[in-house]
Amino acid sequence: MTVKDIINKDSFSKEDLITLLSCEGDDKTLLYKKSAETKEKYVGNKLWFRGLIEFSNVCGKDCLYCGIRKGNKNLKRYNLSDEEILEAARFAYENRYGSIALQSGELESSSVTSRIENLLHKIKELSDGELGITLSVGEQKHEVYKKWFDAGAHRYLLRVEATNRELYRKIHPDNKKHDFQRRLDCLKSLQDIGYQTGTGVMIGLPFQTPEDLAGDLLYMHDFDIDMCGMGPYIEHADTPLINYADTLLPINTRFDLTLKMIAILRIMMKDINIVAATALQAIDPVGREKAVKIGANIIMPNITPGRYRDNYRLYDNKPCTDDSAEDCQSCLEARVSLADSEVIYGEWGDPIHYEKRLKRARNE
Ligand code: SAM
Ligand code: SF4
Repeated sequence: MTVKDIINKDSFSKEDLITLLSCEGDDKTLLYKKSAETKEKYVGNKLWFRGLIEFSNVCGKDCLYCGIRKGNKNLKRYNLSDEEILEAARFAYENRYGSIALQSGELESSSVTSRIENLLHKIKELSDGELGITLSVGEQKHEVYKKWFDAGAHRYLLRVEATNRELYRKIHPDNKKHDFQRRLDCLKSLQDIGYQTGTGVMIGLPFQTPEDLAGDLLYMHDFDIDMCGMGPYIEHADTPLINYADTLLPINTRFDLTLKMIAILRIMMKDINIVAATALQAIDPVGREKAVKIGANIIMPNITPGRYRDNYRLYDNKPCTDDSAEDCQSCLEARVSLADSEVIYGEWGDPIHYEKRLKRARNE
């Protein structure tokens, strides 16, 4: 079947997806045209900001790809004070970002649970309930997720990273702390509790095949996610996966593959929110804008206080680590207009998909 035939189907098989992922030239132009039209029709040319606060790089896990893994001794660990986090949230509120995202390394403890719960209440208070809050702090118990939901978090981003169980094992230590089934169970908990649930994968990982990526897309579709944040895998010198650097696809191919994944997902899941990942910008200065043009509708400007950013280096050449929050905003606005999109201020920008999913669950 040709790419032209496939993109006009109502649903895609694994084989269809593999064909789309490998298309080039005119076929690729057709794919991007279709995804851009789908975005225009279902979400419009609007774009929402989520002010990203990377509040701590302390992590209890050892994912083999990640620069802030516990085992990396070559970085300074930091943990923002509550006041610094609230200050960043206030910046977002005053600059009319509709939402913020709180992200950190993964720690499970009662003190972390109550700290975040307390921060959520305070952020709601300082913004008169207006700031939407996404959490991205990894795997936690169901009751912890529930506590945070009740305290005001309404979105959660937990990348599944790779849906092929074997691949997942190869990019994580083989132990209970890095268990694939727990990842899936956590995502289910988040969805059951009522979060707008987001997931995603890294693209261009060592050992990853086009079949794996097609499987990832089908998983996201079948699990009925509300949001997706996926980006290229970028190697980091101080991680175990650096040993496989010479087996990787060239960086520009990983970039290209990420754009194709975004375009295909937009066609498959028309009304979800799709993030233009920061990692795209590490490869191409206008990488995120390219993603917005073909299907993404969310950008996460970094509003972490500048002096900490250098230590939240997940991968080499992470961009904007020496900008201030204000620099980030003005630079992004200029770029976004290049992508013919309009930044919407003062709104949450919830995915239309979420409302529809809830209605379906209530049989309305
Ligand atoms: N600790 C939480 C978690 O793992 O869900 C949230 C923070 S974690 C740093 C956020 C994401 O960074 C991960 O889900 C992973 O996909 C991404 N990441 C880590 N190392 C990366 C790398 N080398 N290249 C691209 N993305 C990476
Ligand atoms: Fe920790 Fe998240 Fe990095 Fe894994 S991906 S090492 S959980 S910060």
